[in-house]
Amino acid sequence: MLAIESEIGRMFERVPFGCHTLDAEGTYQSINALELAWLGYTSEEIIGKKKLTDFLTPASQEKLHAHTLDTAAAFLALKLELVRRDGGRMSISLSALTHPSCDPKLCRALIFDQTETRALQSERKVSAAVFESLAGMFITDRNQRILQVNQSFTELTGYTAQEAQGQTPRLLSSGRHTKGFYQAMWAALMEHGTWNGEIWNRRKNGEIFVEWLSISTVTDLSGAVTHYVGSFIDITDSKRAQDQIAYMAYHDALTQLPNRRLLLDRLNQALATARRSSLHGAILFIDLDNFKHINDTCGHETGDRVLVETANRLRNAVREGDSVARLGGDEFAILLEDLSSERMESAAKAGQLAEKIRAVLAQPYLLGNYQFHCSASIGVDLYAHTETATDLLQHADLAMYQSKKAGRNTLRFFDPTMQTALSQHIAMKNELRQAIHQRQLRLFFQPQIDHRRHIIGAEALVRWPNSNHDMVSPTEFIPLAEESDMILQIGQWVLETACIQLKAWENRPLTRHLRLSINVSAKQFHQSDFVAMVKQVVADSGVNPALIKLEVTESVVLKVADAITKMDALRAIGVHFAMDDFGTGYSSLSTLTKLPLNQLKIDQSFVRNIGLKPTDAVIVQTIIAMAHMLNIEAIAEGVETEEQLAFLERHGCDCFQGFLFGRPVPIEELEAQLVARAALVP
Ligand code: C2E
Ligand code: MG
Ligand code: MG
Repeated sequence: MLAIESEIGRMFERVPFGCHTLDAEGTYQSINALELAWLGYTSEEIIGKKKLTDFLTPASQEKLHAHTLDTAAAFLALKLELVRRDGGRMSISLSALTHPSCDPKLCRALIFDQTETRALQSERKVSAAVFESLAGMFITDRNQRILQVNQSFTELTGYTAQEAQGQTPRLLSSGRHTKGFYQAMWAALMEHGTWNGEIWNRRKNGEIFVEWLSISTVTDLSGAVTHYVGSFIDITDSKRAQDQIAYMAYHDALTQLPNRRLLLDRLNQALATARRSSLHGAILFIDLDNFKHINDTCGHETGDRVLVETANRLRNAVREGDSVARLGGDEFAILLEDLSSERMESAAKAGQLAEKIRAVLAQPYLLGNYQFHCSASIGVDLYAHTETATDLLQHADLAMYQSKKAGRNTLRFFDPTMQTALSQHIAMKNELRQAIHQRQLRLFFQPQIDHRRHIIGAEALVRWPNSNHDMVSPTEFIPLAEESDMILQIGQWVLETACIQLKAWENRPLTRHLRLSINVSAKQFHQSDFVAMVKQVVADSGVNPALIKLEVTESVVLKVADAITKMDALRAIGVHFAMDDFGTGYSSLSTLTKLPLNQLKIDQSFVRNIGLKPTDAVIVQTIIAMAHMLNIEAIAEGVETEEQLAFLERHGCDCFQGFLFGRPVPIEELEAQLVARAALVP
C-alpha cells in the first residue's frame, strides 16, 4: 500500500474533495465517492477502464499534457475543466503527486471543486450526502489558507465555505491558548505529519466550544507540505458532562454545597497555607438538633426543604471566602481561614461567628403554612498547622457532641481532655468487641414481685466483667454497643441465654411459672428480621413464648407502624411486651393505646422521688391509673424503701422490682433466694 494511502487512509472516503490514483498509463486505480458523484459514474465503470483525460475538456486535456511534458516535477497543480456524464462542466483544481518509488508509477491526485456557482442543486444534494460526516473538515494550502470546508464545518463553526475560504484556521481562535501552544502544535505537525488534541475555539456567534482536532499534512516528494487536512468533532457537551461529573463528585446534590471530600481538600490546602502564614483558622461542625424528628414526622420532602434553607442561611452568614460544606444528613461544616496570628483572638472570632450561626439557625423555619423549629449544636476546633484535616473534623465533631450533651442549641470548643475521652471510647469499644467474641458477657437476674410478695419472675440484665473482674455497667457499654452492630449480637445472646434458662426452669414446680423480662434495644427491635429472629430462638429453645416478656423503650414508638406490626406478630405466638422506663420518653397516650402492651414499667427516677418530690409522686399515681384504664399491668422499678413500696401498694401498683427485694445476681443466687422463700412459705 502506498505511503500516502496508509497515512491518510480511509479519511479520503469522507473528505470534501475528489481524490483518485492513476497508474502509469493514466488509468484509474482508485477513486473516492465524491469524485464519482461529480463524474456521475460508478466505480465499476471507471476503475481499470477509464482515464482522467476521458473526463477532461479538450482544452484541459491539452493543458495537462503540456504540463506533464514540460515539467519533470512529480507534483503539479492545475486548474482544469471536467466533463460529467450528463455533459455538464465543472471547474476543478487538480493537485497531483507521482510516487517515483512505486513501479509501475502511481499518481495520487486531489481534486477541488472550483465551480463558481457551487454547482447545481442536485450536485449539492449528492455532495452533502457524501460529506455527511459529523466531523467538520477543512483543507488548507501550504500557507494555511483554507481551500475547502465541509457542511459540518459550517454547522459547527457558523462560517460558510465562502467566509472560510482564503482565511487561516486562526479565524476560529478563541484566545484561550497561548502562543506556545500553537507553536508546539505546528512543531509536532512538522515532525510527525499529524497532530491530535483538544482545542478551544470560537464560533462565529462568539460562543466558545471545545473540539477534538486532527490535522494531517500532505507533502510532496521532497517532503515539502502542500496541504493540511483538518477534521474535528465538537466535544463541548461531553466536556460539559465531564465537568458535571467532576462537580457532582465534590458537591452535595441537594444543597449544592461542597461535600466532605471537597471540604477535606480545602482543609488540607488551608493547613498548608497556615504553615506559611502562621495564621490560625477554625472548623465549625454543625448538627441540627431535631431534624430527625421533622424528617420522621413531616416527611423527607419537608426535611429536604429544611436542609436547603439551612444551607442558604449558612451561606449568608459567613464571610466571603469561608467554605460551607454539607457532610451528610443534617451535618454541616464551615471552614474559617486566616482568623488571626493569636490563638485567643482567633478563638474569639470563631466563637462570634459560631454564635451568629447558632442564632441564625435557631430562627423558625417557615415552610408553606407551617413553622418548624430546628436549632443547631455547634462544635468548634481551632487549627494552626500542626493538625491533620481528619483530626480537625473529628475534634470539631466531638465538641459538637458536647454541645448536644449540654442541652443543644449551643456551641462548644474542642479541648484536649475530650480527646482523651474519645480515645477511651474507642478503646472500650474494641475491648467490648473482644469480650463478645470471647463470650465474657454474663447474665444477671433481678427478681420481680407481685402484691403478695411472691417472686413472679426476673429481669435479665447483662453484665460485663472487665479485666479487673469489676463489672462494667450496662449503662456504659450498651450505648457503645448501640453505635455499631454489637448491640444485635448482645441482644440475640441475651435472648438465647434467657430462653435456655426458662427451659431449664420448666421442669421444676418451684420455677416453672417464672417469667423473664428481656431488654430489647430500639436498634435491635427495628431490624427487619427481628420477629423472625425471636421466633427462631423460641423454636430452637422449645420454650413457652408466654414466659418471655420483651422490654422495649418509648423510643420505639418513633416508628409506630413498625412497632405495632412487630409487636402484633410476636403477641400472636404468645410473647408479652412491657414498656420500660415509662414516663421519660415522649410516647403520647394515643400511641400508647395502639400498642399491644402487657405492662408499663414506671421509671425508677419517679419511684426514687416518692416522698421527696410531690409532682413525681403524682406522676407515679397517674401512670398506675392510666395503665389500669388501658387494661395494662403497672410495675415499679427501683423500689428501694418500704415507704416507696407502701405508696405504690396504696395506689394499686401490681408488681415491683428493686433493691428492696433483691439486686441483680447470678442465676445460682436467684435460685437460692427462691428456695429460701419457698421454705418460708407455710
Ligand atoms: P433497665 O432496663 O431500666 O434496668 C433497670 C436498671 O435499674 C438495672 O441497671 C438495675 O440494676 C437497676 N436497678 C434495679 N433496681 C434498682 C434499685 O432499687 N435502685 C437502683 N438505683 N437501681 C436499680 P443495670 O443492670 O445497670 O442496667 C441498666 C440499663 O442497661 C437497663 O435499664 C437497660 O436499659 C440496659 N440493659 C441492661 N441489660 C440489657 C440487655 O440485656 N439488653 C439491652 N438492650 N439493654 C440492657
Ligand atoms: Mg429493663
Ligand atoms: Mg428501666
